[in-house]
Amino acid sequence: TGTLYLVATPIGNLEDMTYRAVRMLKECDIIAAEDTRQTRKLLSHFEITPSLLFSYHEHNKAASGPELIRYIIEGKNLALVSDAGLPAISDPGADLVQLAVEAGIPVVPVPGANAALSALIASGLPTDSFTFIGFLPRERKDILKILSGLRSAQGTLLFYESPHRVGKTLALMLEAFGNRRAALARELTKRYEEFVRGTLEDCLEWLSEHPPLGEYVLVIEGESAEAAAEAEAAWWQSLTTAEHVA
Ligand code: SAM
Repeated sequence: TGTLYLVATPIGNLEDMTYRAVRMLKECDIIAAEDTRQTRKLLSHFEITPSLLFSYHEHNKAASGPELIRYIIEGKNLALVSDAGLPAISDPGADLVQLAVEAGIPVVPVPGANAALSALIASGLPTDSFTFIGFLPRERKDILKILSGLRSAQGTLLFYESPHRVGKTLALMLEAFGNRRAALARELTKRYEEFVRGTLEDCLEWLSEHPPLGEYVLVIEGESAEAAAEAEAAWWQSLTTAEHVA
């Protein structure tokens, strides 16, 4: 059998393409891409001529996944790319990896750019422990449900957001978490890359003066040690009070 390679592509800056990614895309028999038009542009920039460019996205993956697996079992090496960054991170790929693992196919990551981790490392917030949430659901009540479940998470929280919803999402975070430390990372690796570092209120204020444009990662501080201690003390307090009543 062949191998499934998960190949990272840039998240804006073409110089973030790795030597290995270029070589893998040149050497693989098939490239499966989220948006073949987008990938064609990348390939032509790096002078890569694919023998077969296959479309693999959210809406055809149920059918195209098993077909790609058959190619690999027949001995073809397949490179999977998404439109930007790491495949399978808020992008299609995880299902294909699962199928490959079930079929006993070797799966090899070819790492590179990723928006969430790039935002985290430059945010100034703790990096020792973090939770990646990615995109929140669309409905307010579904968002609040997830955020309230994260209120006592102690690691830094990482979210992806589109420009037309970033303000609304930050406001809901302020409602759910209180005014925590936060960083907004915008247009990472691109010409207008920007970081807003401060609190959730600072980020909201900044957004009110800078109309949202481009791509955003939201980096939010986890529950502070003091808040966790307070919550625990309140919990013990509620227990002893309950016993007292009983
Ligand atoms: N697979 C990608 C990765 O590894 O980062 C993520 C793809 S996801 C469909 C796209 C989202 O990632 C955007 O809505 C934005 O939240 C974030 N993103 C991608 N590129 C970015 C960039 N250059 N600057 C800031 N955020 C970015």
